[in-house]
Amino acid sequence: MKLRCSLGMTTSAIRLPSQLFLDGAFQRSRSGRHTSLINPATEQAFCEVDAADVAEVDASIVSAHRAWESGWRDMSPGKRTEILFNVSRVLRENIEHIAQLERLQVGKPIADARDEAGLGARVFEYYAGGITRFYGQTIPVSRGGFDFTLRQSMGVVAAIVPWNFPFPIACWKVAPALAAGNCVVLKPASISPLTALLLGELAHSAGLPPGVLQVLPGSGSVIGDALVNHPLIRKVSFTGSTEIGRRIMELASRDLKRVSLELGGKSPNIVFADSDWQKAAECSPMSVFANTGQDCCARSRMFVERPIYEGFVERFVAATRQLKVGDPALETTQLGPLVSSGQRATVEEFLANARSCGTRFALGGDRPASQGYYLNPAVLLEPGREDRCWKEEIFGPVVAIVPFDDEAAMLREVNASPYGLSGSLWTNDIRRALRVARAVQSGVLSVNSHSSVHVEAPFGGFKTSGIGRDLGMAAMEGYTELKNVYVAE
Ligand code: NAD
Ligand code: MN
Repeated sequence: MKLRCSLGMTTSAIRLPSQLFLDGAFQRSRSGRHTSLINPATEQAFCEVDAADVAEVDASIVSAHRAWESGWRDMSPGKRTEILFNVSRVLRENIEHIAQLERLQVGKPIADARDEAGLGARVFEYYAGGITRFYGQTIPVSRGGFDFTLRQSMGVVAAIVPWNFPFPIACWKVAPALAAGNCVVLKPASISPLTALLLGELAHSAGLPPGVLQVLPGSGSVIGDALVNHPLIRKVSFTGSTEIGRRIMELASRDLKRVSLELGGKSPNIVFADSDWQKAAECSPMSVFANTGQDCCARSRMFVERPIYEGFVERFVAATRQLKVGDPALETTQLGPLVSSGQRATVEEFLANARSCGTRFALGGDRPASQGYYLNPAVLLEPGREDRCWKEEIFGPVVAIVPFDDEAAMLREVNASPYGLSGSLWTNDIRRALRVARAVQSGVLSVNSHSSVHVEAPFGGFKTSGIGRDLGMAAMEGYTELKNVYVAE
């Protein structure tokens, strides 16, 4: 593999994949397009990665389709299991490499990056084990005879992923799609191609046949439409903004392609006075500020019951002050920089809007360093309903906290959001927990916890937060067509 990277001090020891990964090998982009990657912690360009154009989209899909028809589709479940277990093992052996690439390209704190690399490996392990535990049904149809269902692969799946959790989200889509017998063309976000490319290379080295997983770095505005519109793509699995998700669904409607869309969120964190609210206050800052707030599940709207409101805010602010913002290369860093200057500018616009609305800042919103796209986490109190920070997804380290008096009125406001991805509620009353968990309109909810993602459980949104589910066996179902076969007696 030929590198086209300017290796700086911090990157010299880290191998940077910089070309398209197609048909089992790294390949130069024929168009000469490339993306210059910027390390958000230093603001320095550190690598140039080839970017695909429309001709390469077509060629990669055609060859993925060939790989599907000529082998992967009909490979025995046992053999496919063996290969995916092997991929998982090779990913585990390369956790440090994956983590360092993630740190460089998106400013991910290194400890988080290692956890996320491990999560990706675990996803492959789970679906490898799922292949032979994925059953159809036998159905006692009225007319007698023998009726059974088959879960069949679809063909080539386009997986389009964002920059906030580049490696694990790629694994969430690639592993179940491959397990179900599909081939995949993976398009990482243009600014975060490195871990996707490494995934392609490592999976191939673990025994995945050429063409089964194609990795196409490039810009969504250049190759997105060609990828989604291609007649050989049978399903588009997308994670990203609601705006692009809508566009993909529109384009997919022409050929009735299957879509699964994991989109934005504005998730609530609801704290009742009968809860262990001191504990909630201490662990809630990371439920919104982790990944510097660039998390679709960020609990960015907090509803705190009036009797504990002041005490809760005091503890929440104190816990936020303790968070370590800084160099993602340090083991102790909890919040790295935002991913780009553009992303920071967007967040700062939200903060300017909050100031102009007269919203009170309990803390933060300022820049802690002159270099790197850092921003101190901001805690906003009781924003007016016209403050955009209260309604819109910010995708940065900003939380807004309001008190509430009445459970039913609070739930009406929670559910007035067009989003419905995740949420948390804190209470020690089991009846309240069950009642509120049922009432919140979101795909994922946690009680006395902020944990949203479990490899074994379905993850996805209600309303404009999406369609379809990642993870769990629900995701594997989503990468198959359901066939019914009837055999006369
Ligand atoms: P984005 O929608 O801008 O980009 C996501 C991906 O789509 C990238 O790979 C991008 O290159 C590609 N893309 C852009 N234009 C395209 C087009 N016309 N056709 C096809 N693909 C195109 O999102 P982003 O800015 O990378 O990520 C932030 C958003 O992602 C936030 O809204 C966040 O909530 C959402 N997100 C959701 C989840 C979830 O699981 N629900 C997870 C992470 C991020
Ligand atoms: Mn974007």
